[in-house]
Amino acid sequence: MAELLARPAWRTVDFISDLHLNADEPATFAVFQDYLQHTPADAVFMLGDLFEVWVGDDAVSPDFLARPDASVENACACVLHEAGKRLALFFMHGNRDFLVGRDFMQRCGATLLADPTVLGFAGQRWLLSHGDALCLGDTDYLQFRQRVRSPEWQRDFLARPLAERQAIAREMRRQSEARKRSGADYADVDASAARQWLQAADARTLIHGHTHKPAVHNLGDGLRRVVLSDWDAQANPPRADVLRLTPSGLQRIALSPFPFPA
Ligand code: MN
Repeated sequence: MAELLARPAWRTVDFISDLHLNADEPATFAVFQDYLQHTPADAVFMLGDLFEVWVGDDAVSPDFLARPDASVENACACVLHEAGKRLALFFMHGNRDFLVGRDFMQRCGATLLADPTVLGFAGQRWLLSHGDALCLGDTDYLQFRQRVRSPEWQRDFLARPLAERQAIAREMRRQSEARKRSGADYADVDASAARQWLQAADARTLIHGHTHKPAVHNLGDGLRRVVLSDWDAQANPPRADVLRLTPSGLQRIALSPFPFPA
C-alpha cells in the first residue's frame, strides 16, 4: 500500500473531495479559489472528483497560466499552480476525474497519489481513499471501473479527438443525471471491506469521499471511517466542507456561504 509521511513542519492538513468543478457552477469554483488562497493548512489533500469530468490533460491549454479564462480546466490549473507555491497539494483520482495525469498534476504543483494511500501524521496512520472501490454493492459501476482503469482502455480513449471525448463525457453525464433524478439507489461503503483496508494499512481512521454522505461511522475495534461532503455553493444551504486535521484531531469546517471573515 502506498505511504506518505507528513513533512515535519506540517501542523495542519486539509482534506476535500467531490467539488465536481465544472463550467456551469462558477459559484463553487469561486469558493474553491478563495479557499485555496486563504487556507491556513500546510497541505491540502484532494481526494477525488475535484472535477465533474476530465477527458484528458489536453483539455488544458499548454499556456494555461496566460489564459485562465479560456476554460474551467485552465482556471483550475491556474488556481492549483498558484496555491502550490505556498502549500503542499495532493490529488487522488475519483470516478469522474480518473484521467487526470501525473505530469499534468506536477505542472500544477500537485502530487498524484495512489488510491488508497496511508498518510503518516502526528504519530498516527490515516488511510485516504476516494471511496468508490469500497462501494461493493455498485456492481455495474465496479465493472465499468475495472474497464476504464486499464491502460488499454485509457490509451484507446485518449487517442480519440478531444471534441469526441467531450461529447462522450456529456452523454455519460446526461445518463448519470437521469439516473440520479429517477431516484436510483447508490451503494454505500461496505463496512467489512473498509475494516479490511484499515487492518491491512495498520490505520484506525479511513477518510474518504464519493458517497456525498458526510458522517463519522464507527466500524468497531476502534476503527472508523470519516466521510467528506461534496461541494455545491448554489445549494440551499450551500455545501463546502473541509475536514481539517491537526495534532489535536479532526474537525469539520463549513466554508460556505461566508468562507472567510472580511
Ligand atoms: Mn466519486
